[in-house]
Amino acid sequence: MYAVGFARPDRWSRGRPAEDACPWHAVEAHRPPVELDGEVELAVCGAVVQVWGSQKWERVGAGRTACPACRQITAGNRHLSRAG
Ligand SMILES: [Zn+2]
Repeated sequence: MYAVGFARPDRWSRGRPAEDACPWHAVEAHRPPVELDGEVELAVCGAVVQVWGSQKWERVGAGRTACPACRQITAGNRHLSRAG
């Protein structure tokens, strides 16, 4: 299960416009995303994000504003399922 995290504004830098355009990241959630709402977590790509518990990664991850690295990692998650 993945929660949705929003890149923290204080981590943005003007030299990285890609991050401004793709502020949504996936956060591996071991609890319901709504319980993580507002918490600062590490996204699966390593970015520091703040969880938006009301968003769903299944929906946000399909959009253009989602982090490409997170999209790739979560899309490849099927390969990891046999390990668990
Ligand atoms: Zn990401």
